[in-house]
Amino acid sequence: MTDHFQSHIGESDPLVAQALADERARQQDQIELIASENIVSRAVLDVLGHEMTNKTLEGYPGNRFHGGGQFVDVVEQAAIDRAKQLFGCDYANVQPHSGSQANLAVFFLLLKPGDTVLSLDLASGGHLSHGLGANLSGRWFRAHHYGVDATSEVIDYDALEAQAHKVRPKLLIAGGSAYPRAIDFARMGQIAKDVGAWFHVDMAHIAGLVAGGVHASPVAHADIVTCTTTKTLRGPRGGLILTNRQDWMKRLQSAVFPGVQGSIHTQVIAAKAVCLGEALTPAFASYSAQIIDNARTLASTLQARGVRIVTGGTDTHLVLIDASSKGLSGKQAESALEAANITSNKNPIPNDSPRPPEWVGLRLGVGAATTRGLKQAEFETLGQVIADLLDAAARGGGGDDSEHITKQARTRVAQLCAAFPAGA
Ligand SMILES: *Cc1c(COP(=O)(O)O)cnc(C)c1O
Repeated sequence: MTDHFQSHIGESDPLVAQALADERARQQDQIELIASENIVSRAVLDVLGHEMTNKTLEGYPGNRFHGGGQFVDVVEQAAIDRAKQLFGCDYANVQPHSGSQANLAVFFLLLKPGDTVLSLDLASGGHLSHGLGANLSGRWFRAHHYGVDATSEVIDYDALEAQAHKVRPKLLIAGGSAYPRAIDFARMGQIAKDVGAWFHVDMAHIAGLVAGGVHASPVAHADIVTCTTTKTLRGPRGGLILTNRQDWMKRLQSAVFPGVQGSIHTQVIAAKAVCLGEALTPAFASYSAQIIDNARTLASTLQARGVRIVTGGTDTHLVLIDASSKGLSGKQAESALEAANITSNKNPIPNDSPRPPEWVGLRLGVGAATTRGLKQAEFETLGQVIADLLDAAARGGGGDDSEHITKQARTRVAQLCAAFPAGA
């Protein structure tokens, strides 16, 4: 790893330089199982540190409010063309600064304050930006939420249909950040049509799986699709908006800029172009197939050790653990893993407590570790290590036993980290 870049920071700002060095070491020394993370390519990293960041531009390629945009136009047009090709759609907006910002632009395009939306509830895996009270979307719109079947923990499409007929939303939203199963976009699109709602799919977590062809695409069923370029798509921090609706394209441009954003993050747009180019390669399709194999291996290994997996398995990169099956809270499970250098996060699961300290879910995702090169054999090891840690934490009280297990786990994690370096 060359460090010419960081050495400049070292001279001018030792505090930040040290934090960057520590963060790089942390990423190398921990197995990252936070489902929204990934490890971007060297090419994406290089682009993010490029002088293109100095360029201020508003507007769209060929139609800017500032001069000197001809080279940024090249990368923004490439990002647009590649997004359209990758997801098979007629329109792509690559400017949203984040996934939440992409959603905000969609709401600005389609809704007025007080309009009704229907989205997945938080405990069933929904996202804050889909009408939760703490988010602008929950304050300005009348949000109703659908959930999952109490037994299968899979979206109850019949109940959703009945609810949609009752609340008559203007916008039906699919997608979430902790829903481990494939979503039936065709069925939801039909429900939206039946009740006269527009259908918005937020595929933030699964965009890389859709790109790689291992999850059904929402594009043909949705009026509009948003996603992040982070997470399984393995790109820079940012958002995308996709649609086939000819009648919305012009208004969508304005909904993003000047609707909810000002100038573009030029270097991030260039990094999106690179990420989308990478996602068009056969290697990326193999990567996404490996993600599914790895997640299934992790889920079945844990299950065999008596850990309850929400929905009984996974169709995605996500494995959602019910830590109460080992007598633990989500926070306790998270801490047990962290002590052995495995990073994850507590999360609500269906019918969980509304209070975060009482949540019993632990969310795991295999995207980042799969990028490092871990395959089924390593995920089986990791599953055993995680089960050991949960069992030790369940026996409780710290002491020699749990210290021994944690030490053993830390050694095995260190071996994996050494064998599969993070980053290029
Ligand atoms: C992560 C996520 C977002 C938010 O993306 P940010 O870039 O963090 O704003 C939006 N929707 C869903 C479903 C997500 O998982």
